[in-house]
Amino acid sequence: MTHLGIDEDELSSCVSCGMCLPHCPTYRVTGKEAFSPRGRIDAMRAVQWKGAPIDDSFVEFMETCVQCRGCEPACPSGVPFGHLMEATRSTLAAQHRTVPRWQRIGYHVLGRHRLLLIGSRMIAVAQRLKLVPRRLGLGTIPVRQGAAIASTGTDVWLYTGCVMDAWQRHTHRSTAEILTSLGITYQVPSSSGCCGALHTHAGLSEQAAALMRSTMEAFPGDGPILVNSAGCGAALKDVGHALGTAEARAFSARVVDVHTFVMNAVVMDPVVMDPVLNSGSERPSVPKFSGPGMGPIMIQDPCHLRHVQKAHLAVRDLIGRVGTPVELGDEGLCCGAGGAYSALQPDLAGQIRDRKISTILAVAKRTGSTQLVSANPGCSQHLSSALADHGISVVHPMDLLAQALK
Ligand code: SF4
Ligand code: SF4
Repeated sequence: MTHLGIDEDELSSCVSCGMCLPHCPTYRVTGKEAFSPRGRIDAMRAVQWKGAPIDDSFVEFMETCVQCRGCEPACPSGVPFGHLMEATRSTLAAQHRTVPRWQRIGYHVLGRHRLLLIGSRMIAVAQRLKLVPRRLGLGTIPVRQGAAIASTGTDVWLYTGCVMDAWQRHTHRSTAEILTSLGITYQVPSSSGCCGALHTHAGLSEQAAALMRSTMEAFPGDGPILVNSAGCGAALKDVGHALGTAEARAFSARVVDVHTFVMNAVVMDPVVMDPVLNSGSERPSVPKFSGPGMGPIMIQDPCHLRHVQKAHLAVRDLIGRVGTPVELGDEGLCCGAGGAYSALQPDLAGQIRDRKISTILAVAKRTGSTQLVSANPGCSQHLSSALADHGISVVHPMDLLAQALK
């Protein structure tokens, strides 16, 4: 009998009400209970409580979860589904039921920044030669990233990460410009790298813990640590829970989503939404914003910004300073990127993305917007590869704000 390592109280907290089902992207595209949060919890219980075997079906139900955690805010019982899935993935990876050797090599590279930069450049060149299949959902990766940003002082730390730095270093430059314009100095540690978020998703718990510990060492002191990647921010805020030490909890308490920080730094006006552009959305309509006009800008909520960090409203406040924020009106339904999910589960990820693209195109048509902001590199890549054909660009909110500064 296999114990999945799930906390018993957390596993028993689900009352099988099904409120989470409409918020689950894999349930939405398959219509099957086994691909829903409730179905997955039932399968976990069958293994942990009743000794059911870990067979191929069980592995499939777990591996196809995007780990978006869209089910968590929808759950009236507060089931911490992310914890359940992380424990299950950890058990499956330890038994070598998941994460084959080639994937483990890929995850290893994330923790070796120079190797990642070289590998990213090779992928970028391969893209130019049309050697990278489109079904992998990769947006265009820059061949050259330019120089890494350099510290200007000690007011705050700036977390640069692994993939974010390899694929979107320009966003770090934009973030640095915005902080500088606000009179805030920042420091960038020389040894900062991967936070272990993707390793946690894959169930590689030991590697994830090692990366978390080295990340903590790279940010000494008690200053705030600003993060402009939604997935990394969520992972770094969870270091305290994952490592379970007082030091780790203190570290996590210092992690701040960059949008929240900047919004607070400039003492934002109340969120301003256009009542016509946002008709039918879940956000309340308020009077039209009359600021500098970058036009209507659609907002995509990365799951780990909205469902996990709950920092998504800050993006609206910031975008409202430079243009007109436009809601997609789908309650932050996942786009299917899910870290490495789009590469590992391309069929399901593609179906989930298709639904998202349809929503975006309908909103774009209604509002005339040709720009979408996304605060996560995985979502940006996943969506931009499909939206480019429709004349819609995907940009990071920090990049848009930096444009406005100029
Ligand atoms: S984490 Fe996302 S994909 Fe997984 S069960 Fe919850 S809603 Fe569905
Ligand atoms: S996870 Fe929450 S919302 Fe989903 S079935 Fe269980 S109790 Fe209901």
